[in-house]
Amino acid sequence: MQTQEVDVLVIGAGPSGSVAAGIIKKAGYNVHMVEKEKFPRFVIGESLLPRCMEALEEADLLDAVKAQGFQEKFGAKFLRKDDVCDFNFDEQFTEGFSWTWQVPRGDFDKTLADEVQRKGVTVHFETTVTDIKFDGTNSTTTIVDKEGNVSEIKAKFIVDSSGYGRVIPRLFNLDKPSNLPPRKSLFAHVNDPKRDVHNEPNRIMILVHQPQTWIWVIPFSTGVTSVGFVGSPEFFDEHKDKTPEAQLRYLINSEPHLKERFGNETFMFEPKTLEGWSITTEQFFGDGFVLTGNVTEFLDPMFSSGVTLATASSQLAANLVIKQLQGNKVNWDQEFVKPTMQGVDVFRTYVMGWYDGTLHDIFFTKDINPEIKKQICSVLAGYVWDTDNPFVKKHDRVVKSLSEFLRMNNPSAVA
Ligand code: FAD
Repeated sequence: MQTQEVDVLVIGAGPSGSVAAGIIKKAGYNVHMVEKEKFPRFVIGESLLPRCMEALEEADLLDAVKAQGFQEKFGAKFLRKDDVCDFNFDEQFTEGFSWTWQVPRGDFDKTLADEVQRKGVTVHFETTVTDIKFDGTNSTTTIVDKEGNVSEIKAKFIVDSSGYGRVIPRLFNLDKPSNLPPRKSLFAHVNDPKRDVHNEPNRIMILVHQPQTWIWVIPFSTGVTSVGFVGSPEFFDEHKDKTPEAQLRYLINSEPHLKERFGNETFMFEPKTLEGWSITTEQFFGDGFVLTGNVTEFLDPMFSSGVTLATASSQLAANLVIKQLQGNKVNWDQEFVKPTMQGVDVFRTYVMGWYDGTLHDIFFTKDINPEIKKQICSVLAGYVWDTDNPFVKKHDRVVKSLSEFLRMNNPSAVA
């Protein structure tokens, strides 16, 4: 059997994998990335947050993405019937990027993977990791290519960025349920010729369809827009006798904000369903490996945190892998798990606050304080590590107490 020896093996060529591979390669190490699909491949997660630009920048990937001309994103507009809450990333508490992109992920992920390959990372596409054996921090990974050829990669360190594939948690029985209730989504890409009449394309729109059900509208530069409904599995059960296309068509036509714009437009593919995505793992690292991106914990699509947490965790992990390979001691709990969970936990508060209605109180109040709005805007931009921001530092308490204050002092404004 053929065996290759590398410094670092990265599993998965999503944004998390490419950022890790890019940063470690830049430090002079021999990096291989193994990806089971042929790119471009479909994956959901199309609305980015400004904070992910910092990870792309450190991995030297920003210019390659800029050259693609993806739709620029300057903010997010939240709508509940006629109530509007518009966040503009220019008006933020935390200093940082004030823009990002809305991307068809197949093209975005291919751009990143091609760029790290161009910079010298060996990328094995259409090759699947099937087994890993650890010997201290060294490992031997079995991979199988599309012709069925089996070979081995010996690595000094593995970064598992396999997303929904969850390679190390599955091989070593580390999966753990999340504390969020199960949710489901139905979505498609829809032709969108009327977008300018309805909304500027350089922001996403989030619509409250019912208190627990919401809709994303993410325009791309191609003239196509991603439209998705997210709700409890029971919400979708009401329509289970219909085909996915009939279901999505019915739901679009039942939502006044969407009906005129998308009611008769073509779906670019048969609408897709995803569910039960919230999951975590018993451990984020071990001797010779670290998990990054969705493999650590994925919460919920609300607030578009996925790619940002994926790239921020791999940015951090990559620098720690380099530190360890240089012979320094890394305290993975303190230096990786703690900050990673800090980001996840801030977003968890906002996701839970969205579904229990406390954030609706805050977003749709008639007179939100501009300073508070800036602080919340920075959370929505992905700056969830800035502990100078009270909406980061004391996230749980501050969100709850502001909602209670608004309800007590101005009930008509939050109704
Ligand atoms: P991925 O992008 O999943 O990449 C992992 C790669 O690993 C894949 O290419 C896969 O083929 C490969 N792989 C898997 N198993 C193996 C194996 N055995 N061997 C080799 N390769 C393997 N996030 C946002 O930021 N914005 C959004 O608007 C958003 N919307 C979402 C909507 C829904 C309904 C859902 C469920 C999620 C959404 N997300 C969103 C989350 C987003 O999809 C993920 O957080 C993001 O894709 C994670 O990136 P990643 O690099 O960790 O993993």
